[in-house]
Amino acid sequence: MPILSHLKPDYMNIDELNIFADSVGHFLDENAPPNEIKRWSEEGSVGRALWEKAGAAGLLGVSVPEAYGGVGGDFRHEVVIMEQLAFKGAQSFVIPLHNATVAPYLIDYASEEQKKRWLPSVVSGETLLAVAMSEPGAGSDLQAMKTSARRDGDHYIINGQKTFISNGLHASLVVVAAKTDTGAGAKGITLFAVEVDKVEGFSRGRLLHKIGQAGRDTTELYFSDMRVPAANILGGQEGQGFRMLMEKLPQERMVIAWQSMAMAEAAIKHTIDYVKERKAFGKSVMDFQNTQFKLAECKTQATIGKVFLYHCTEKLMQKKLDAATASMAKYWVSEMQGRVIDECLQLYGGYGYMTEFPIAEMYKDARAARIYGGTNEIMKLLIARSL
Ligand SMILES: Cc1cc2nc3c(=O)[nH]c(=O)nc-3n(C[C@H](O)[C@H](O)[C@H](O)COP(=O)(O)OP(=O)(O)OC[C@H]3O[C@@H](n4cnc5c(N)ncnc54)[C@H](O)[C@@H]3O)c2cc1C
Repeated sequence: MPILSHLKPDYMNIDELNIFADSVGHFLDENAPPNEIKRWSEEGSVGRALWEKAGAAGLLGVSVPEAYGGVGGDFRHEVVIMEQLAFKGAQSFVIPLHNATVAPYLIDYASEEQKKRWLPSVVSGETLLAVAMSEPGAGSDLQAMKTSARRDGDHYIINGQKTFISNGLHASLVVVAAKTDTGAGAKGITLFAVEVDKVEGFSRGRLLHKIGQAGRDTTELYFSDMRVPAANILGGQEGQGFRMLMEKLPQERMVIAWQSMAMAEAAIKHTIDYVKERKAFGKSVMDFQNTQFKLAECKTQATIGKVFLYHCTEKLMQKKLDAATASMAKYWVSEMQGRVIDECLQLYGGYGYMTEFPIAEMYKDARAARIYGGTNEIMKLLIARSL
């Protein structure tokens, strides 16, 4: 299926990863056929049961160390999952958020006892993860967050509201950013791992209706005198939250870049198949030079993006990926995805506008990548700081 598989560097082109890709693909063929994907969109969520099936099939927590019930994989396994989800049109199933965006906060900052308690269930799918940073009044400017956490004996009392939270409907363990010191700016932000079904004062808001990614549940979360054990501070002490976010955001940006890359590649593949079949003026749409040139441009852009992502991935695995380079990947690849999918949709003509064709879903799904994980304007700010 992938049209750019020839670009794979040696570190990605190993039997174990290729076998894993096949097994993820088979899982999705069985559990995410087009009618199921349509149902996810109608219901606004993939549903709880699919997560547990994915856990049983070995797709969850693939980077969790073996000591905590994982298989001890790494970011390459996450890339394989992201590619397969996009190639099968199942990008609303946010395994990458659970595995590669939120689980690393637990792996790196939870206490030993908490890791033993939580991580095996992250791998099985019994525990679903989310991260709650954004608020109605604070997205890009996280330091302006209003959610507060006040110490009360061996607990913290958290008050506030979060919005746009992916996996918000089913998440049972949420990494919540809150201010433990409202006068200390970034140094006043603390991260709490909150077992939301076990604490008082937590409630989920409405399922938000989005223009795309309809099968991904995105909700508001409310904290009203929510009592969280003090032991659930990630990193063990107050004021470490902003530093942890800065450490983990480069990987989150790589997740968005890879999801964008995989969807762009899938769009080109679908479009090549379509234009070869579709006839106009007595020949196939592929025979028009305009079609060939547009697809040549798309493939060139995707090739450049993919080579860059392999470079960044290697650096990420060596723990040498800096924030500016990760921001370049997120910004450039998500914009490339937008251009490529738009051109591809045009080559479908009217059918490209019909939601029964995957290209139309991709067009809607892709738009968010320029906004979440830090908007592309914020990415440019981070890059500019390195100049
Ligand atoms: C589908 C979806 C899923 C999401 N999932 C999550 C999640 O799971 N967890 C979570 O915490 N958040 C999540 N978010 C929130 C997302 O991270 C924020 O929407 C994003 O960070 C932007 O914040 P904002 O919406 O408040 O926009 P604002 O910060 O209000 O930005 C508005 C505009 O101003 C621009 N802008 C802001 N500051 C500057 C500046 N300094 N210079 C130039 N331009 C600037 C922005 O780029 C943007 O164009 C999700 C969002 C979406 C759409």
